Amino acid sequence: MPPLTCSGLTTCSIAAVIVQMVGVSLFMLGFFPVKPTLSGVSGPESFRPPDHEVYNLTTPLPPPTHLKSLYQELSEIPPSFDRLILMVIDGLPAEFVLGKDGQPPSKALTDAMPYTQSLLKNGMAIGYHAKAAPPTVTMPRLKAMVSGAIGGFLDVAFNFNTQALLDDNLLGQFFSIGWKMVMLGDETWLKLFPGLFTRHDGVSSFYVKDTVQVDQNVSRHLGYELNRDDWDLLILHYLGLDHVGHIGGRNSVLMTPKLMEMDEVVKMIHLNTIVPQDDIKRQTLLVGAILISSLLFGLSFVFTPQTCAYVVVSDHGMTDNGNHGGSSYEETDSLVLFIGPTKYASDYASATHNTAYQVDIAPTLALLFGVPIPKNNVGVLIAEIFTSLTEDKNQIKKPNVIVVFIVQNCLGPNFTTTTISNDQQLRALELNSWQLLRLLEAQLPGLSCRSFNSDGFSDDQGLGISKCSGSMDEMFCCLYRNAKLLHSSWKLKTVSR
Ligand SMILES: [Zn+2]
Repeated sequence: MPPLTCSGLTTCSIAAVIVQMVGVSLFMLGFFPVKPTLSGVSGPESFRPPDHEVYNLTTPLPPPTHLKSLYQELSEIPPSFDRLILMVIDGLPAEFVLGKDGQPPSKALTDAMPYTQSLLKNGMAIGYHAKAAPPTVTMPRLKAMVSGAIGGFLDVAFNFNTQALLDDNLLGQFFSIGWKMVMLGDETWLKLFPGLFTRHDGVSSFYVKDTVQVDQNVSRHLGYELNRDDWDLLILHYLGLDHVGHIGGRNSVLMTPKLMEMDEVVKMIHLNTIVPQDDIKRQTLLVGAILISSLLFGLSFVFTPQTCAYVVVSDHGMTDNGNHGGSSYEETDSLVLFIGPTKYASDYASATHNTAYQVDIAPTLALLFGVPIPKNNVGVLIAEIFTSLTEDKNQIKKPNVIVVFIVQNCLGPNFTTTTISNDQQLRALELNSWQLLRLLEAQLPGLSCRSFNSDGFSDDQGLGISKCSGSMDEMFCCLYRNAKLLHSSWKLKTVSR
């Protein structure tokens, strides 16, 4: 073998460095893919079909109060609630509350959360195993809940140096319609949304040995905040359970007392925010009194019952050792629990055997509160929740039916009243599909369902439904077109009925 010359050695070294750089680049691209997000926020155009862009991004939005009523008018869905309490129990695996594989949680766990379990048993709450995307650490999971978008793995690095969230999100949408927001708990929220909260008390997640004070600093404000009516969104983020996991794992001796503490918080909030039957009667009497006043004195009024939605979520689960960050079932099994004033589910099984994705929270809450779905959302409306809540609203409104009849007969047809019906649920799904189509078209420039013309054939009902085949893009556009046709046909039948 000839001796390696100086120039040969240099060539080999340069080649080795180039190979190494290519390898590192491939690893970075594969492991930390850059996920481009759409800039700007969803606005009034969200309530129009994607091929009907009447608003452009340069049009300034109206002031909050006008924007709120504009959204209500355009969405055609009356908001189901006026206020929201979002309680985050950090690191709580959904199986602690809902069980696993169709089996209820162990007796020790059900005994630790008796009030929450009683709500599930009598159908007053409905829970979901909401699959969280990795990395299962707090900051990216909070982002996913409020924006409906799944971030990249690089978010792990940013978890310790959180920057303000600039992408379109629920809190920004709520702020734009004039909501006042209060945050108590993990200071990550303050870093993600600086200047957005009217009142706040942030706690650090740095001191993992602290399992007591970190939660007391949240609960000490509860009595005060629940008695105030100057907020529209109250966020409570309890870190103690996650800290218990980090110290002693799922089976730590501290876990049961911590679950009991969380159960007490659920009980306190539920008892303070439910609308008792007596209140419904009072509301009916109040409407009657205001009606008589308006008839006698010619006053106009808008009656909006104050109803509060209560949602308990966890950002991620934990392994047996209490760790999280990866993609195992134990770590990605996060909880979404909707707790309401009256019945949501018929039995324990239907209240607990449900699955969804964590990103589904964003579109569901957006449509329940009448704001546009955030622009980068990939989540799908939890339709059952919407049905449960709107049906529930029907039940609440039942005592007011006589009043509604009087209103229509005394004040004439111009006085509109709200009724919740199937077409509003369908409308919610339609809005979600428009937002997803806009996102897909922006991310996939080749995809254009607007110009898509399939060879439709006349089916039994003459709707023009097509058999879908071809490439993925063609299949998608074809299915979208079919859904659109069926939707229009259903609406026509409803109108002609
Ligand atoms: Zn967390």
